[in-house]
Amino acid sequence: MTKPQHHELVVIGAGICGATIANELLERGKAVCIIDAAPSPATGCSSHAYAIAHPHIGKGSPRLLRLTRIAFLLAEARWKNVWQQHGIFQPTKKDKIFNRAEMTEHLCSLGLDQDMAIAMDAQEAARVCGIEQSGVWLPRGACLNLHETSKQLLQDHEYLTYLWNTRIVRLEECGNQWHLFDSSNQLIVTANKVIVACAMDAKALLASIDIRLPLKPVRGQLSIFSIEQGGAWINKLPRVGISGDGYCLPAKQFEDGSYQWIVGSSFDEGEDELTPRETSDDFNREQARGLVNYPEGDLRALTKAGEFVGIRCVAGDRLPIIGALTQRPGIFLATALGSRGILWSALAAKLVTAQLLEDDFALLARFGFAADLVAALAPARFFAGAAPSALGALASNSKPILPVGSKAK
Ligand SMILES: Cc1cc2nc3c(=O)[nH]c(=O)nc-3n(C[C@H](O)[C@H](O)[C@H](O)COP(=O)(O)OP(=O)(O)OC[C@H]3O[C@@H](n4cnc5c(N)ncnc54)[C@H](O)[C@@H]3O)c2cc1C
Repeated sequence: MTKPQHHELVVIGAGICGATIANELLERGKAVCIIDAAPSPATGCSSHAYAIAHPHIGKGSPRLLRLTRIAFLLAEARWKNVWQQHGIFQPTKKDKIFNRAEMTEHLCSLGLDQDMAIAMDAQEAARVCGIEQSGVWLPRGACLNLHETSKQLLQDHEYLTYLWNTRIVRLEECGNQWHLFDSSNQLIVTANKVIVACAMDAKALLASIDIRLPLKPVRGQLSIFSIEQGGAWINKLPRVGISGDGYCLPAKQFEDGSYQWIVGSSFDEGEDELTPRETSDDFNREQARGLVNYPEGDLRALTKAGEFVGIRCVAGDRLPIIGALTQRPGIFLATALGSRGILWSALAAKLVTAQLLEDDFALLARFGFAADLVAALAPARFFAGAAPSALGALASNSKPILPVGSKAK
């Protein structure tokens, strides 16, 4: 039997989350070993090429609003070179009446300046974004190819070790080290600190050290539609992204005059089946009508040309789980990114690195990151006896509490 490798820092999972954290650590001069069950980066949910990012601006969930603003700024700064900034329009909900003064005040209260979010009536929105609906224009909203980005983050580096085709199924504490085992119960790696960034699989992995995480899968399908030249939809297609009930990217015109339009996403709670479904495309066609406010649009004219299917990993309270697992020193979590992989991985990279290197929180604090937000993301929030503290809550045991009520999208 070969001697297991030893690494100071190991990241399990090479999706956008693990890749971003590993990259941040490399940038901080640390050596990192990244382990993934697959033969290459971003083969899971992060094989997604059409993810969008914008700060959340809805009412309620004040911590979510603060967190997404900070995470958006971090993501934008991190990925500026590959950030496809086309702007995103968020229409007023159909059952709400638009009030510009009220909305402008709300945006101000969130610390969103005019260069980040502008309330618009339908005429202005038609002029600026080509969408005749009232709502909020987020000019810095963007799209990111998670697959390409993850690959770039994990380019060869003298301090980076990869272990592909390696599924870790069990962790074991041994003195002040962690031992990582594969499915044949072979000790693969020993490490001082382990960052668990393997989405849904974090649940089984953490169960091996008696930590129960309230994670569940949510299947999603994004549809790539093709629209023929001259079709009635053409005048309705957006030139910016739209985020509301579902989301879409700006429509793209091809040389032959036809368009490609990417619309999503279906939402199947508790399911983890990756086979594409026609019912999901039908759902997305309906969303498409709603997004551009075209209820009479002929759905058959949205011809299916492709899709992306992924399994989101979601926590009981819909916030990501990011931070030190204080009941198991040396273990850090970054999972449950839900539908905000871009934002939460940018935030996770800074937060986990700050905790792991026992850094000061100056950078995060500059962005408005405060102790209550750290506690809101901390793994310990799910465990009985958790008490908020600046570096994450301490817990008395690992019995999970499933929070009720707070439904952050
Ligand atoms: C339809 C759909 C639309 C979405 N739209 C958006 C969007 O518009 N904007 C946005 O920001 N996000 C969006 N998301 C969410 C985003 O795709 C995810 O949040 C993100 O990809 C999750 O990244 P991750 O690194 O946590 O997980 P993953 O990408 O799933 O990576 C986990 C990695 O861990 C590895 N792994 C798993 N178990 C083990 C193990 N035991 N040992 C070793 N390796 C292991 C896997 O092989 C995988 O590479 C969407 C998701 C879906 C499904």
